[in-house]
Amino acid sequence: MPASEGDVKIFVLNAGSSTIKASLYGKSVFTQSEAEDPLWHGVFDWGKEDSATLKVTAANGEVVEQKCEQKNPANGIKLLLDTATQGPTKVLSSFSEIAIIGHRVVHGGNLFQKPVLITPEVEKAITELFPLAPLHNPYNLEGINIMGQLLPSVPQVAVFDTSFHQSLREDAYLYPGPYAWKEKNIRRYGFHGISHQYCTERCKKILPNEKTDKIVSCHLGNGASLAAIHEGKSRDTTMGFTPLEGLMMGSRSGSIDPSIVFFLQKEQHISPDKLVHMLNYESGLKGISGFSEDMRSILKAISEGNVKAKLAYDMYVHSLKRNLGAMIGVLEGIDVLIFTAGIGENSPEIRESVCKAFSFLGIDLNDQKNQSLPKDEVISSSTSKVHVLVISTKEEWMIARECNKFYASL
Ligand code: ADP
Repeated sequence: MPASEGDVKIFVLNAGSSTIKASLYGKSVFTQSEAEDPLWHGVFDWGKEDSATLKVTAANGEVVEQKCEQKNPANGIKLLLDTATQGPTKVLSSFSEIAIIGHRVVHGGNLFQKPVLITPEVEKAITELFPLAPLHNPYNLEGINIMGQLLPSVPQVAVFDTSFHQSLREDAYLYPGPYAWKEKNIRRYGFHGISHQYCTERCKKILPNEKTDKIVSCHLGNGASLAAIHEGKSRDTTMGFTPLEGLMMGSRSGSIDPSIVFFLQKEQHISPDKLVHMLNYESGLKGISGFSEDMRSILKAISEGNVKAKLAYDMYVHSLKRNLGAMIGVLEGIDVLIFTAGIGENSPEIRESVCKAFSFLGIDLNDQKNQSLPKDEVISSSTSKVHVLVISTKEEWMIARECNKFYASL
């Protein structure tokens, strides 16, 4: 039996290489202009060496946590869906309430300027982009296929992390290699676009009467990128052809001299596959500290006197400062500086270290606000020349919002 309008739910899936995150939103949420928390949210973490774990939270406060023997996405998605229809976190009376499914797809190349309804052609295009995002797109497509098998009659929508950056101009997106690269689409694409776009929109709601033309958005999670946004449009961003470029990250190196790669290949005979692994999973905070990609562990180790953790932290801040300077240069100024994602939202130390470096531009934090677990708040002082905001990013809500537009037009 089809769901009545009141029961309609939107299911959002963010299927990655080690975790699958899923959320359910009621359609009524979209009659309000503010982002809301989902009715139900689950994470299946299958990247660890021992067993996989499942954690589900429902809006009624119920939480289900369990270890799972089968470490594969198909099992994970099925287990997640089961917790939405039964047990303490039940929010669906039947799967027929799910009216539409939204997927985060990391790489849309220059094929997708906006979200699309998934068709066999779209799946083919996502597959053709595998070589550009081997650590992301295959898992995103697997999530699409699994949901297609589980709920074959429900329409699916792809929302791309690259779309927001399709507004970059040629001088910003081309690499200064041979001109022939342009024809081969070897260019900067940029990522985290769903988050940067959300933060841009949210910023305008938090500061309705202020100048917000020139925004630098700092998405600092396990992956991290900055975006230079002018009048709502992305003009530059630190990630590039793949999500490996730019800032030092949790386990990714960010930008390095490409000659290091040739040197390791030629002189030390390290294979391309091993190099991909080294730069994506054995570098960044993890590579330098030697023990963790997690900023919380790095901060704890620093407080215990760990020298390598301190070096990793200092390098992370240095990388942020030099890239933030670059984004401000591109914008020829800055009105608003936004911090978001795990580190950006939760680390007053990082925000303070970065903002202090830019005090010469008149950036001035209100220390008490910075320390007070701010959420969707201004943390700069009343005399600061730049507004500094902490915004709790809502990528899954953004995907659900896009789905809602499609649902209305189906
Ligand atoms: P992902 O990119 O996987 O979505 P998140 O946005 O959740 O990642 O960010 C994960 C990062 O946020 C980790 O480095 C984690 O240590 C960091 N983080 C989370 N909470 C805190 C905190 N209280 N202080 C410092 N860092 C934090």
